[in-house]
Amino acid sequence: MPHLGEHAIVLGAGMAGLVHAVPLARRFRHVTLVDRDLLPDRRDERRGVPQGQHIHLLVPGGLSRLEELLPGIVDDLTAAGAHVIESPEWRFHMGGGRLDLTGTDFRITGATRPLIEGVVRDRVRALDGVEVLDGWAARELTTDAGRSRITGVRLRSEAEPAEERTLDADLVVDTTGRGSPSPRWLAELGYAPPAEERLKVDVHYTTRMFRRDPAVLDGARNVLVDVPPDGRRGGVALAIEDGRWIVTLIGMLGERPPADPAGFADYAAGLWSRDLSDIVAGAEPSGEAARAAFPSFSRHRYDRLRRLPEGYLVAGDAVCSFDPRFGQGMTVAIIEAVELGRALDARGVDRIGLRTLAAARWAVQDAWDLATGSDLAYPEVDGPRPVSWRLTTAYLQRLLPAAHRDPVVAAAFIRVIGMLARPAELMRPHLLARVLIGSGRQTGRGVTGGHPAGTLARSTAAGRQQPRGDRSPARRP
Ligand SMILES: Cc1cc2nc3c(=O)[nH]c(=O)nc-3n(C[C@H](O)[C@H](O)[C@H](O)COP(=O)(O)OP(=O)(O)OC[C@H]3O[C@@H](n4cnc5c(N)ncnc54)[C@H](O)[C@@H]3O)c2cc1C
Repeated sequence: MPHLGEHAIVLGAGMAGLVHAVPLARRFRHVTLVDRDLLPDRRDERRGVPQGQHIHLLVPGGLSRLEELLPGIVDDLTAAGAHVIESPEWRFHMGGGRLDLTGTDFRITGATRPLIEGVVRDRVRALDGVEVLDGWAARELTTDAGRSRITGVRLRSEAEPAEERTLDADLVVDTTGRGSPSPRWLAELGYAPPAEERLKVDVHYTTRMFRRDPAVLDGARNVLVDVPPDGRRGGVALAIEDGRWIVTLIGMLGERPPADPAGFADYAAGLWSRDLSDIVAGAEPSGEAARAAFPSFSRHRYDRLRRLPEGYLVAGDAVCSFDPRFGQGMTVAIIEAVELGRALDARGVDRIGLRTLAAARWAVQDAWDLATGSDLAYPEVDGPRPVSWRLTTAYLQRLLPAAHRDPVVAAAFIRVIGMLARPAELMRPHLLARVLIGSGRQTGRGVTGGHPAGTLARSTAAGRQQPRGDRSPARRP
């Protein structure tokens, strides 16, 4: 393939930065991945990605697209110790029961975030023309005289703050995460910064790891206990490398899962399904607890800007950071990277920023609607709840009970929340019929209590029906 340019720079070598380097390496002679952290050779945690201490899994639509971007990556992950976990090994407690995933064949990763990132980083480093420049922080953009084009970036050494260097490039991609300086940089260059939308949810996470007894829960390797709408508490467990479980307990709306072993076990025991308690009780802890807070969703509407300098793109959490409960962030970043490759192939670097943002908008919107729509089920979450949201919620309150008994319905639901399909798939006539018939039957199988419709069901309702644009549930700060 002829090169579209000499040099592309990616700022931030987190998951979004790494996957964006892939389409760029195939289309530019050189790609430099810059990160202010010193990137570990091994699979260690690092300062710039504190969320790496908590559960990180690639949902089916992320794993399959990552394999398309980097063929053989699933084998690389498993060779490094990651599990690839098939859906019959999941126990998803949602909507007051357990989804029937018999015979379904979805796959997710079972690994720590440092392992996933480390394996992907090794593959990206090995691509022709890719250089990783770590220990350097992006300070400001450089432009042409008319400020219509980004020409590079000025960096500062983290070790020697007096030391600076400037890199020139045909394209700069900002994937520096939620705290991205792009809104400020754009304003300083005389561009309107993107509006920011927020939805305050005040979610807290506490994570511990345990030795894993493979016999527990009939060998299940992924357990989800959804937060019921009349409660605040939930959790997830995932089998990871080195024979361990990673267990993340979730507290909504200010609820804080405790970090001490006894408090952690009590919290797990109080959930509406016993599965997490069965994993935690009596299991040998491994390492210390980690805590994280997610105060609010944040979406920067770069996709609505009229002007963005040429040679510039923003992606990943720098555009939108989602409530981690839904495991969407890495997958959305992968989709954005795929769309970047397509946009470059369609029309080269001309207006590449705005074109890529427009092309990837569907993924950000689906994930945003899914997650914010779910959280709006809590009366304390402040945002509009239009009639369409209530109607679809009512439908989904029937869908989940059907999915407790009918693997076809469960599979359709997983395809949507796993980002393999758009939310409209849940409204197809054949599925409507199964939902209406299935939700009426009373088998009771897998029903463990709780509310008749889980949060993700409501979120999927929102995924179809949440209004877009200005009517979205978000608030400007
Ligand atoms: C608790 C928690 C759990 C999560 N679980 C999941 C999950 O299960 N599945 C999932 O898909 N997503 C999950 N996410 C979201 C996921 O972590 C992110 O969406 C994903 O990592 C993409 O982030 P990013 O690469 O855009 O930003 P980040 O991961 O924040 O990476 C940004 C990078 O930029 C670097 N950087 C920052 N500033 C500068 C600068 N000025 N110069 C140079 N470098 C800079 C940082 O060092 C870092 O390496 C979770 C998030 C949280 C908080």
